[in-house]
Amino acid sequence: MADYDYDVLVIGAGPGGYVAAIRAAQLGLKTACAEGRETLGGTCLNVGCIPSKALLHASEYFEAAKGGAMAAMGIKVTPELDLPTMQGQRLDAIKGLTGGIEFLFKKNKVDWLKGYAQFKDAHSVEVAGKTVTAKNIVIATGSSVTPLPGVEIDNEGGVVVDSTGALELASVPKKMVVIGGGVIGLELGSVWRRLGAEVTVVEFLDQLLPGMDGDVRKEAAKIFKKQGMALKLGTKVTGVTVAEVNGGKSAKVTVEPAKGGDAEVIEADVVLVSIGRRPNTEGLGLGNIGLELNARAQIETDHDFATKVDGVWAIGDVIPGPMLAHKAEDEGIAVAENIAGLTGIVNHDVIPGVVYTQPEIAGVGLTEEAAKERGAIKVGKFPMLANSRAKTNHEPDGFVKVIADAETDRVLGVWCIASVAGTMIAQAAQAMEFGATSEDIAYTCHAHPTHSEAIKEAAMAVTGKPIHM
Ligand SMILES: Cc1cc2nc3c(=O)[nH]c(=O)nc-3n(C[C@H](O)[C@H](O)[C@H](O)COP(=O)(O)OP(=O)(O)OC[C@H]3O[C@@H](n4cnc5c(N)ncnc54)[C@H](O)[C@@H]3O)c2cc1C
Repeated sequence: MADYDYDVLVIGAGPGGYVAAIRAAQLGLKTACAEGRETLGGTCLNVGCIPSKALLHASEYFEAAKGGAMAAMGIKVTPELDLPTMQGQRLDAIKGLTGGIEFLFKKNKVDWLKGYAQFKDAHSVEVAGKTVTAKNIVIATGSSVTPLPGVEIDNEGGVVVDSTGALELASVPKKMVVIGGGVIGLELGSVWRRLGAEVTVVEFLDQLLPGMDGDVRKEAAKIFKKQGMALKLGTKVTGVTVAEVNGGKSAKVTVEPAKGGDAEVIEADVVLVSIGRRPNTEGLGLGNIGLELNARAQIETDHDFATKVDGVWAIGDVIPGPMLAHKAEDEGIAVAENIAGLTGIVNHDVIPGVVYTQPEIAGVGLTEEAAKERGAIKVGKFPMLANSRAKTNHEPDGFVKVIADAETDRVLGVWCIASVAGTMIAQAAQAMEFGATSEDIAYTCHAHPTHSEAIKEAAMAVTGKPIHM
């Protein structure tokens, strides 16, 4: 057998790659991870999940202090925004967590190869001018922002930014246009709206949050409108121009109904382009190993995360499936276990998704629409307004919906809009992973008073017998 420098070489140190590298090392495999970015942690820790949550959390406090929520509880304050400090705590969070991954690499003896890796053949890559060989190579190169044709992004103090630029704004825009009503656009749009911007979201489809349950999408739109976001649904952007105005820069976004009709111009100090993300495969030298991409420019794998090329594996945003950090992490563990000869499995039917706005929006499993296409279903719904904790906390918006198979009662999907929906959805995912029925959830004792009781009540509603409604 050929001698290799490593048993496993992972390309990319995002949540997929760094987790794969750590688990491979834990399993006794000699492991390296190539990462071109200055810090470990990938999109998630540097410009994704963590920095966006740092700003969402802080801006949520600001908004609560500014008006409704805190005043309703008898706390009256007039908050003052200190944006540099708010941005500073975002950078602190990134620094602490990316440094934590570096510590974990050292602790687990994973070698960090600093630089971008390119395949020379199926068992060797070039990183920073050096050739490194490995018996197994895992591609975990993640994804980057999808550009809008004809629209140039300028994250260095420019007017048209992507999600990275929108995280780093040095002042609150007066008017912000968000192109794309998906998770990232709504989260970052919410941050700047809470801090004082007038935000308009332009979405091509007839509704926000593509891929989520229909009821949830409708309710979410109502809530965002109530919060003061202007929504232009079923609307397409046909052009963005930037001009000098009074020594500064300003954008004009031209939109028209997606189905055709009169054009309209919306002015903005900042335009966020958030129409999706695309896999990072350019420059990897995939041609050198004969690995082809699918029609969506993703790398296809089998259930074990092996590609068609022997010894080459792939995980995370670069392969099909939802572009989510926890999906990438689970695939990272599974691929390492498969490489080590164990059985690594990810159940792609049970991957929760969360929008970290206020209220949070979360779901796992099938939407009602998708479940109906498969056969007869029963649906139980329970409003957060009838949940004692949510009501007491002045958080009346939202509902929980449990979708079960009409014949077997097995839970097929759970959807929540609630202040802590992202935390609540974990119990639904676990129940589904154990093959629970709605009755199993309904007869599980839930602590009182908690928001999670709404999941129990929605499960009881599947058979038409909720108590508090
Ligand atoms: C603003 C924003 C908010 C988000 N919020 C959430 C959230 O709340 N929850 C959630 O689950 N997901 C969220 N996501 C998505 C999440 O960040 C991704 O799904 C996740 O990071 C994917 O992990 P990954 O390991 O596949 O790739 P990535 O995290 O993209 O990491 C890939 C790494 O590979 C490196 N790389 C690429 N090519 C090479 C090469 N040739 N050689 C060496 N290194 C290379 C890159 O520099 C990068 O660091 C968010 C994304 C964004 C942009």
